[in-house]
Amino acid sequence: MKLYNTLTRKKEEFVPLNAGKIKMYVCGPTVYDYIHIGNARPYVIFDTIRRYFEYKGYDVDYVQNFTDVDDKIIKKANSEGVESKVISERYIKEALKDAEGLNVKPATKNPKVTEEMDHIIEMIQTLIDKGHAYVSDGTVFFDTGSFPDYGKLSGKNIDELLAGARIEVDSNKKSPTDFVLWKPKKPGEPAWQSPWGEGRPGWHIECSVMAKRYLGDTIDIHAGGEDLIFPHHENEIAQSEAANGVPFAKYWLHNGFINIDNINEQIQG
Ligand SMILES: [Zn+2]
Repeated sequence: MKLYNTLTRKKEEFVPLNAGKIKMYVCGPTVYDYIHIGNARPYVIFDTIRRYFEYKGYDVDYVQNFTDVDDKIIKKANSEGVESKVISERYIKEALKDAEGLNVKPATKNPKVTEEMDHIIEMIQTLIDKGHAYVSDGTVFFDTGSFPDYGKLSGKNIDELLAGARIEVDSNKKSPTDFVLWKPKKPGEPAWQSPWGEGRPGWHIECSVMAKRYLGDTIDIHAGGEDLIFPHHENEIAQSEAANGVPFAKYWLHNGFINIDNINEQIQG
């Protein structure tokens, strides 16, 4: 079987890291509402690839997260006057129901951000200890300048990104391309204790942590919508490879957008 690998920009013969086994991670939805057709597409596409591997006799470990800590969830919770958990649990249930309706096989594991906080804090601490992250006024940033491979997935380079960066409003960052690993609590938001004060994680770190915890430091396939290539997957690579010191994923697969009446449905998260 040949797969188009976004990382190498080539169709490559699939060779598993371990004979007979495949470790596959697919970025899942942010559960602030019902899933939409743009979420349904990766569900169906990567389920089809998984089923083909299983048909060929592979044992596939298939992990797909639910992002249950997010601005949109908090906003909806505040507008309904309930806790964030009420919103996220409601739409996780609906997403699972819709996946079943699409005849998508259940994942081996659906980790949630709220249940991985200790591991998220641990990886951020590792990145700080290894000199890849820094604390600035209660926020922890990934230091993109410390990771020479930054941009290898999306084909962007730091100089171009810097030239294209808008005037930086966040003066706590060393560089405009640095991104948030942990942010301090704001009033009315859920928060967790951390060595850097009460707060919550940035979006990208969860996938690095969940992939490591449930699949290992190096996985066969990492997948998601093409809108996730930059910055989300680029940042996942930086976090995982800086923390673990080994390549993160061998094959990076991305589905295209659904085009309906020439309008791109491009929101995957
Ligand atoms: Zn992800």
